[in-house]
Amino acid sequence: QANTRESLYLVSEYASKYFQNILHKTDQGKAIGLSYFKERGFTEETIKKFDLGYSLDEWQAFTDDAIKKGYQLEFLEGTGLTIVKDNKQFDRFKGRVMFPIQSMSGRVLGFGGRILTNDKKAAKYLNSPESDIYHKSKVLYGIYHAKQSIAKEDNCFLVEGYTDVIQFHQRGIKNVVSSSGTALTPEQIRLINRLTKNITVLFDGDAAGMRASLRGIDLVLEQGMNVKVCSFPDGEDPDSFAKQNTLEELTDYLEENSKDFIQFKASLLVADAKNDPIKKADTIRDIMNSISKIPDRIKQEVYIQECSKIMDISESVLFTTLAQMGKKEA
Ligand code: ATP
Ligand code: MN
Ligand code: MN
Ligand code: MN
Repeated sequence: QANTRESLYLVSEYASKYFQNILHKTDQGKAIGLSYFKERGFTEETIKKFDLGYSLDEWQAFTDDAIKKGYQLEFLEGTGLTIVKDNKQFDRFKGRVMFPIQSMSGRVLGFGGRILTNDKKAAKYLNSPESDIYHKSKVLYGIYHAKQSIAKEDNCFLVEGYTDVIQFHQRGIKNVVSSSGTALTPEQIRLINRLTKNITVLFDGDAAGMRASLRGIDLVLEQGMNVKVCSFPDGEDPDSFAKQNTLEELTDYLEENSKDFIQFKASLLVADAKNDPIKKADTIRDIMNSISKIPDRIKQEVYIQECSKIMDISESVLFTTLAQMGKKEA
């Protein structure tokens, strides 16, 4: 078992080197992959720092190369980089720019690969499957490059995608990680919790995505962390916004627009409910459910006072609701 995992690590490490080599040293890699990254505004230094690569648009270029170098098919398949079907071998990633996903200690666990077109029909990103070394729910993209800065700044920015992480680094903000499109898990939050108690969730500028993510944030409260949220102008995400602004403009924007999560959620939902009393009642229960997850009684009390004002409802009914919620769970 331990030997299998070690072999999967070695294959992944080799694959990362291979994809980087293709990007920097081959005609196809340079013409397609490297120019794609340059067009996105990534510098040579950034591309190297994140070990970005390119997979050739061929059926088995990587697999053939790895086997020639002595890596066993069993382990190539074990990482999901090679797919075996009817006794034939295929590369999982073809004609994609490659983002290696690293562990806290910098080992390569898996990959994300992006197509180069904006074809709405094809899946934009393809990721490595779960394997003995890659457990999506326990990994945060960028954690290896961010960990020192998260501890130093005593805050962690959480973004949606790979390119958000990378563009922030290039601008000079290094305390940033991504859950790569999946809902945040307790294990991922624990990784951050070891480094800081403060997290700022940055949403892409589309209302649907933001509303969908609100629920997951209760998990962060449950671990006793302080949560702020910040959204970007319509159609922008942290990557595109960072690209268009200087470090100072970006830092100012983050400072001015980061709001306490509970206050933000209360204001947003109250505005949604407008003059609909039933909807408003549901909203209040929703907020109280979030507040009930906070382990610190004093913080709970402060939030109840705040929410009573925001939602225009008495504190006493909120305290009663909280007490009832506590009972139901016990
Ligand atoms: P880009 O700027 O390259 O177009 P993005 O990072 O802004 O991409 P989003 O559409 O905002 O992409 O999605 C956020 C993250 O969700 C992506 O970085 C990726 O990790 C994941 N993701 C997006 N689309 C897919 C998909 N089709 N399959 C799997 N994961 C995806
Ligand atoms: Mn690196
Ligand atoms: Mn995005
Ligand atoms: Mn984007």
